[in-house]
Amino acid sequence: MSDIKRKLADNIKHVKERICCACVDAGRDPSEVTLVAVTKYVDIEIVRRMLELGVTDFAESRVQALTARADAMSSLVPPPKWHLVGHLQRNKVKQVLPWVSMFQSVDSLRLAEELDSAAEQKNCVVDVLMQINISGERSKTGVAVGASTHMAECIASLSHLRLRGLMAMGPLTEDRSAIRAAFVRCRELFEEIANEVPVGDHFRDLSMGMSDDFELGIANGATIVRIGRALFEGVAEPTPEPESNTAATGA
Ligand SMILES: *Cc1c(COP(=O)(O)O)cnc(C)c1O
Repeated sequence: MSDIKRKLADNIKHVKERICCACVDAGRDPSEVTLVAVTKYVDIEIVRRMLELGVTDFAESRVQALTARADAMSSLVPPPKWHLVGHLQRNKVKQVLPWVSMFQSVDSLRLAEELDSAAEQKNCVVDVLMQINISGERSKTGVAVGASTHMAECIASLSHLRLRGLMAMGPLTEDRSAIRAAFVRCRELFEEIANEVPVGDHFRDLSMGMSDDFELGIANGATIVRIGRALFEGVAEPTPEPESNTAATGA
C-alpha cells in the first residue's frame, strides 16, 4: 500500500473514532450519525479508494464535479451516494437530478419548485434538506431563520420532494461558543418546524458540522456531518478553490 493510501485509511479511521467519541459524550448511538466525505479538494482516484475503504456517502459543492464523478463511478457496486452541498442554480437542476441522493442546500422556494417539477417529470421523489443561514452572515447562503418555518411548510407541500431536515454551516470563527450557539439555534429551529409544520416522519436529519466543528454538531443533534479537510491531511493539499486543485492529488 502506498503512503497516501495508508494515510487516507488512517484519516478515515481517526475521523470515525472522533465521531464515535462525540456520540458517546452526547449519549447518542454512533449509528445515528452519517459521515459524508466532502471530496471537492481531491482527485477522483482518492474518492474511489475511499469507497473501497467503506465510505458510502460523498459530497460535492459544484454540479459539474458531482455529475462527472457520479457518472464515472456509477457502475461500481454498490455505487456511492452523492450529496450536493453547494448553491444550485435552477437551470442545472435537470442535469444533476439523476445523480444526487440528497440535495442538502435547498435555499429558496423557486429552487424547491424547480426540483419538484423535474422530479415529477422523472416520476421520482427527491430527498432534500433546507439550508438555513444560521449565522445570519450576509455572505452566507441559506434561508433566513425568520423565514424558515414558512419555507419548510411550502417545501413540505411539494409532492415530489421529501423534506428530510435542515442543513447549516457554523459561523467562520475560532470562537467555539459562537459555533455552539449557532448549532443550538439550528436544533431549536428543527424542533420548532417538526412541531409546528406538517413535515412528516421523514423530517429527521440535521446536517451540521465540518472538519473543525463536527463534534459540536454531534453534541447538538447532528445526524449528518460533512467532512473534507480532516480526511485529507497528508493526502492532498486543501485549496479553497476546488477547480485549482487538480494538480495537488496526483500520486
Ligand atoms: C467544503 C464544505 C464542507 C467540508 O469542509 P471541511 O472544512 O473541509 O471539512 C462541508 N460543507 C460544505 C457546505 C462545504 O462547502
